[in-house]
Amino acid sequence: MIDFHCHLDLFENPEQLAERCEEARVYVLSVTTTPKAWRKTMTLGRNRRFIRTALGLHPQLAHERFRELPLFEALLSETRYVGEIGLDGSPAYRGHADIQRKVFERALAASREHGRRIFSIHSRGAAEAVIVALRQHGSGDTAVLHWFSGTPKELQAAVAAGCWFSVGPAMLRSENGRSLVAGMPRDRVLTETDGPFAKRGRHPLTPFDVRHAIVELARLWSVAEHDADAQLNSNLKELLSRVPAPHPPQHPV
Ligand code: MN
Repeated sequence: MIDFHCHLDLFENPEQLAERCEEARVYVLSVTTTPKAWRKTMTLGRNRRFIRTALGLHPQLAHERFRELPLFEALLSETRYVGEIGLDGSPAYRGHADIQRKVFERALAASREHGRRIFSIHSRGAAEAVIVALRQHGSGDTAVLHWFSGTPKELQAAVAAGCWFSVGPAMLRSENGRSLVAGMPRDRVLTETDGPFAKRGRHPLTPFDVRHAIVELARLWSVAEHDADAQLNSNLKELLSRVPAPHPPQHPV
């Protein structure tokens, strides 16, 4: 199973959860929201094969944390994964559009200067602007749009830009979410939870809840669950093959 967007460091007991995921061989992309959080969060992946850590600067924090951009750039050589970054055009954050854009653009530009990176991207209320920026930076084909909630037309533009998508149980529960997922190329879909922010009832989703997403995807694709799972694993392999691990590798073989 794959949880390609999880805030492991924001759970009550991250170390224990990371160990459980490792033992169960659940692949987790552990995203961060600020460069300052990276150093500590990446220790969750130390000596673990299945926990990978992404360097992020969340668009909802861009206006407060933009001074951490130099730190972001300094840490970039240590990881193959960048996220959570992106733009947020929802009413509460629309006012910070300029600084969000600056942060996002610099993160993309710096990632390209360091070779390529795999991205986990937030695009709520800003799908079009995100896709334009990804295109401009030649980063569409290694960008995973997490919990995509744009219009069908924006989805088409994202697909045309080569983007990937990570979808979770919460998205697959809604009619609108399911119809977007149905329009995504099957070979560019990964699973995620966005835990602990995303919840089932009052319980934060953990990487183990990805199984609910696999069940729903199998239904949508009209395939057996193990075939959906195999498809997702092969997708991840393909994505990872596009960006070599930086040296020294974060996870020595
Ligand atoms: Mn998130």
